Amino acid sequence: MTDTIPPLREVINEFDLRAKKSFGQNFLLDLNLTGKIARIAGDLSDSVIYEVGPGPGGLTRGLLANGAKRVVAVEMDKRCLPALAEVSAAYDGALKVIEGDAMEMDEFALLAPKGGEIARIASNLPYNVGTLLFIKWLTVDEWKPWYASLTLMFQKEVAERIVAQPNTKAYGRLSVLAQWRGKVKIAMNVPAAAFTPPPKVASAIIHFEPTESMDSTVKLAHLEKVVEKAFGQRRKMLRASMKGLDVDAAELLNAADIEETRRAETVSVEEFVRLARIYGEMRA
Ligand code: SAM
Repeated sequence: MTDTIPPLREVINEFDLRAKKSFGQNFLLDLNLTGKIARIAGDLSDSVIYEVGPGPGGLTRGLLANGAKRVVAVEMDKRCLPALAEVSAAYDGALKVIEGDAMEMDEFALLAPKGGEIARIASNLPYNVGTLLFIKWLTVDEWKPWYASLTLMFQKEVAERIVAQPNTKAYGRLSVLAQWRGKVKIAMNVPAAAFTPPPKVASAIIHFEPTESMDSTVKLAHLEKVVEKAFGQRRKMLRASMKGLDVDAAELLNAADIEETRRAETVSVEEFVRLARIYGEMRA
């Protein structure tokens, strides 16, 4: 289904929505592309979607045209609200827009999914808060979380860090956290030229689906602590980088069956989870 609203270029002219750097605005104006991104999110027929930063509505329209039942979107830039009101009217109110800062929102309460509805998050994230929001969604209190998937645009370099495997430069805290929490892949590369205005760097869409915890006894705070220490000095051997922990580093590494001379980059997600479990036991 395609919508009957004017093309995005016209919408931008009509409402004078020149992109502002301060809001991290790089708009997608090609509805074929936003439709493709919407389809990466999954079968949307029973889905209710939380979107951060709809801007003039490119991805929002892609989601609604591809069958999303409802979209709840949070936008910081007031100027976009009249254009989004037109989208909402064209889709019989299936779009609800909240003006505000996504960092301060309780997404679950806003979306309020009902029984049978599948909650998802899809967004062309503003670069300045993209990683923080991703971490916010990966560290929600209750796991598995309330959402079935995250489909998110990042700078390509950040997307590569999220999916990175051990023994690569890109492997780090973000890779371990994301891959501990679920299955994640780069679903599509998006060149800078696809945006108006084009940013300096290329982008990519990641698709994330939460899985059950690898080891439900492991506390997020413990995993974050060992990972932070290990990668804080990523060129050092673990026996040195883990020294700042409040337990004996050598004892911890030995108990986890991880050689003290290894570096953070070589430690798999499963091994970090083991380290976190034993770290928790040693502190108990
Ligand atoms: N979704 C649109 C698209 O794909 O064309 C716009 C994407 S643009 C990269 C990011 C959007 O997020 C902008 O509309 C910007 O105003 C909005 N934004 C920036 N920071 C925000 C925040 N903290 N909370 C909510 N929206 C924000």
